[in-house]
Amino acid sequence: MIPFQYSKATTANDAMQQGAAPHTSLLAGGTTLIDLMKLDVMTPTRLVDINSLPLSKIEIRPDGVRIGAMVRNSDLAHNETIKKNYAALSQALLSGASPQLRNMATTGGNLMQRTRCYYFRDTNYACNKRNLGSGCAAMEGFNRIHAVLGGSDKCIAVHPSDMAVAMLALDATVQIQGSGGTRNVPLNDFHLLPGETPQLETVVKPGELILSVTLPQMGPPKKSAYVKLRDRASFEFALASCAAALGMDGNTIKVARVALGGVATKPWLSSEAEASLTGKPANDATFKAAAEAALQQAKPSKHNAYKITLAKMAIVRALREAVKA
Ligand code: SF4
Repeated sequence: MIPFQYSKATTANDAMQQGAAPHTSLLAGGTTLIDLMKLDVMTPTRLVDINSLPLSKIEIRPDGVRIGAMVRNSDLAHNETIKKNYAALSQALLSGASPQLRNMATTGGNLMQRTRCYYFRDTNYACNKRNLGSGCAAMEGFNRIHAVLGGSDKCIAVHPSDMAVAMLALDATVQIQGSGGTRNVPLNDFHLLPGETPQLETVVKPGELILSVTLPQMGPPKKSAYVKLRDRASFEFALASCAAALGMDGNTIKVARVALGGVATKPWLSSEAEASLTGKPANDATFKAAAEAALQQAKPSKHNAYKITLAKMAIVRALREAVKA
């Protein structure tokens, strides 16, 4: 671990000013950043602690919910409105990490978390995300946990968040403050595909600060669910997950949002599944057709073709659970 300076930001402007300096990282819960600094994967020479900023409120509004960027994952998961009206989000949060990590991890930090690709986290290996142009050890290496959707010939690393997948299905928008003011970014536009530039993962620029995430009110009936499939039952990342949010009229699906985790290079919204579900009766035949549609464009690597089957199972189960919610 290299030496670094530490300072505290007292206001959002202060955080943005300090955060704009070269080789600076903002420190929220630290649950990804500190790990990666210990591994010499992230090497900021300055940390700006933003834990004192007043961004820890969950505001219930007539038009939805505003979640401050510093709201801890555990507080969000156990909030009564989130549990009742945005069940997929609470379920996704509680399926992630451990209680201790959830007590530290923040909403903004969760959106910014880095991939669990083994080669990214080990500086002995080539990795375009860590060192653009060095190559990708996962392409010909052991790629069991890697992406089947959204990859490029530069990177096939999976985005690790559960929370972001649920938020995507719930139509979240991220508020980002920069020197030019505050902008609203739909969550589907927040994370970037690797393409030719896998080192760029989000639209957040140096000197910008995530203020909050807003969720629109879910029209009745408020139905959503998150299903996560993984190697072991706790403290493990998804091999495939699905968040489904449905608006129903009787047994007919009026509105559908299906987001996938564990299988794509960013939280993955399936427009194919949405189109397949809309206007159809809520039954297993409909759900299986949507799952097939969602994975039609999947491109497996040598060791991860099983994820296509797993993702389809996650979709069907999430849709069943959402209907029952
Ligand atoms: Fe690096 Fe991406 Fe390749 Fe993993 S998949 S080694 S993160 S470039």
